[in-house]
Amino acid sequence: MRHSSYDVVVVGAGMVGATLASLLARAGFSVALVEAVEPRAFDAAADVGLRVSAISPGSAAIIEQAGAWKKISTQRVRPYRRMQVEDGVELEPLLFDAPVFNLERLGTIVENDLLQWSAWQVVSAGGLVDIYCPDHPGSIEACGQQNRLRLDSGKVIMATLVVGADGAASRMRRIMGIRQDHYAYNQHGLVAVVAKQKPNPGVAWQRFMPGGPLAFLPLADGRSSIVWTRPSREAGRLLTLDDAAFVTELDGASSGWLGKVESVGPRAAFPLSMRLCESYAARRMVLMGDAAHVVHPLAGQGVNLGLADAAGLTEILIAARLAGGDIGAASVLHDYDRARRSESTTMAFGMHALRSLFGNASLAPLRRAGLALVKRSWPLRDMFLQRAAGVGVNAPKLARGVTLRELMRA
Ligand SMILES: Cc1cc2nc3c(=O)[nH]c(=O)nc-3n(C[C@H](O)[C@H](O)[C@H](O)COP(=O)(O)OP(=O)(O)OC[C@H]3O[C@@H](n4cnc5c(N)ncnc54)[C@H](O)[C@@H]3O)c2cc1C
Repeated sequence: MRHSSYDVVVVGAGMVGATLASLLARAGFSVALVEAVEPRAFDAAADVGLRVSAISPGSAAIIEQAGAWKKISTQRVRPYRRMQVEDGVELEPLLFDAPVFNLERLGTIVENDLLQWSAWQVVSAGGLVDIYCPDHPGSIEACGQQNRLRLDSGKVIMATLVVGADGAASRMRRIMGIRQDHYAYNQHGLVAVVAKQKPNPGVAWQRFMPGGPLAFLPLADGRSSIVWTRPSREAGRLLTLDDAAFVTELDGASSGWLGKVESVGPRAAFPLSMRLCESYAARRMVLMGDAAHVVHPLAGQGVNLGLADAAGLTEILIAARLAGGDIGAASVLHDYDRARRSESTTMAFGMHALRSLFGNASLAPLRRAGLALVKRSWPLRDMFLQRAAGVGVNAPKLARGVTLRELMRA
């Protein structure tokens, strides 16, 4: 260890925390990372993992500045250029094509293990960041211009700012005493890797149905990773079916898109909820990623929001340092809280509204009118796309192609 007093201590080295640690260290801050479990090494010889994420171009730009995208993009990832949305009622699907919006791609499907492992390798290489693993924050107390963290291992470290990126069950959130509203959808997201008769041509396909949407996300080998949102009891039933019975039901739900299902791998299901915090900041501490917000995965925005939190905080801390200020000052953390909480809350309620609009059969006429409007209105399609691509006007500068070097010169 270089020292036990840091500008920033990040708790949680998931996809979000590890990316933040790397961004801050590359921007010249002294950083420590406290992680409960060392990530598993990504194994390219093993089959594709069950958890994948649709990484937006904005998030890819952030990960690039964190030094991990080059490594990730040479592995088995799949960029996609088309999004196809159906509602099972409208005959014409809604199509979004990247070139029409002057985008090279709409997103890239990346295995979560690959993203986390690549970011972990960047931070652990060459002592860029001091790593405390396995370890947990035990208690945190104010100590002058810093916080004193007592880790479960007995180690004591000091930080000007502590970041909780420790996931939905965040211990940091409890330590900070921040209240969280939790809305359980009584739905599970069932995930599996599936091969259809025709290979996936690089399309993220989604069909909305009463009970929840079914998504096929393209993988590098032509198979698809599915996320099938079902009422929890129904998802439990689907998990217990044998492969042949499951394939029959999946064929029915995917309405012949790319032909019949030829094979399906292991299945797992995750409970879905919306969680929103009353604040992201308290006493030289902030929250980010799933520790701060959990949104319905129907538009694949959870980790993208977390990566935008990481970029947003990095920008605010660099600006505070350039202005000669204290990076843990309440006014600095207030700027972060205001910028990121409004963005995540808007996204969470947007997902909530979409889920209600598409999940309710009696709202079909309203849905048809809405889809027709989106199809006809270019500004609306543009806005929708820019937001999904993570490059809209509210996106952090790092997501819009500004580099760390440029931010540090500003
Ligand atoms: C079915 C499904 C599909 C999804 N698909 C997408 C998608 O396509 N695109 C997308 O953007 N999002 C998607 N999401 C959401 C996405 O998976 C999450 O938003 C993302 O994993 C959150 O990352 P994180 O780093 O904030 O938290 P986590 O991944 O939960 O990481 C938290 C880290 O903190 C560590 N930790 C926990 N407690 C402690 C502690 N006390 N001390 C130290 N360390 C600790 C953990 O070990 C872990 O490493 C999906 C979610 C679901 C359920």
